[in-house]
Amino acid sequence: MDFGSFRAVDGCSFSVAKGSITGLVGPNGAGKTTVFNMIAGALRPSGGRIAYRGEDITALAPDRRFHKGAVRTFQIPHEFHHLSVIENLMVVAPAQPGETLLSNWFSRARVRKAEAETSRRAWEALEFLELTHVAHQRAGQISGGQKKLLELGRTIMTDAELVLLDEPAAGVNRTLLRKLEEKIEYLNRERGYTFILIEHDMEMIERLCEPVICMAEGKVLIEGSFQTVRSDPRVLEAYLGE
Ligand code: ADP
Repeated sequence: MDFGSFRAVDGCSFSVAKGSITGLVGPNGAGKTTVFNMIAGALRPSGGRIAYRGEDITALAPDRRFHKGAVRTFQIPHEFHHLSVIENLMVVAPAQPGETLLSNWFSRARVRKAEAETSRRAWEALEFLELTHVAHQRAGQISGGQKKLLELGRTIMTDAELVLLDEPAAGVNRTLLRKLEEKIEYLNRERGYTFILIEHDMEMIERLCEPVICMAEGKVLIEGSFQTVRSDPRVLEAYLGE
């Protein structure tokens, strides 16, 4: 991936196993976020190929990837801060039948049913995340950790198969962090979600991720278990050169 004459990601090749929680680590500037943006479709690689379930998606627009089940958790958009927590979940529900004017006209009952289903799912997600007590608070007013849980909730509402999490631990207190980890593990184990996690919190990486991929200077330096990656001298060197 080139930004002008600067090559941020270069010859970076890895695959992510379905059902894994894969950790993506590496010093600042290694190219991790750029890789995420390319997987999510926000950036078009200058060269190379991205495949999802064996299908080449390199040229696919972000919303088409979204429909295929690949999703990235974005921070709650600024304009959504004034919406309540429950509304933030309801607005990301997958397309429901009856969204066009015509079908709306013909089938109000069906629309009402779809809305009721969205509402039921949103409340179920809130219960799962243990956020029901803040359901009617504005999203802009809840704590940083609660926001991360809400971001995770927004992905649950989308029927995603692959979820990209960019530094979920950043700014989250220890108690909420453990809760966030529990929820990620549960979604992975019980619901089959695949996660790729960029994270600087090595304790979180150790607890959750297998395998761990360490990037440096736009390339994959090493991939393996947390212990293997941590004990590789090249990894230490890459962090020292940060
Ligand atoms: P990481 O997430 O591992 O910290 P990034 O993917 O954010 O790394 O950045 C990789 C490199 O690409 C860095 O040197 C960064 O400065 C550069 N970079 C990232 N985005 C842009 C951009 N939009 N324009 C120019 N350079 C960029």
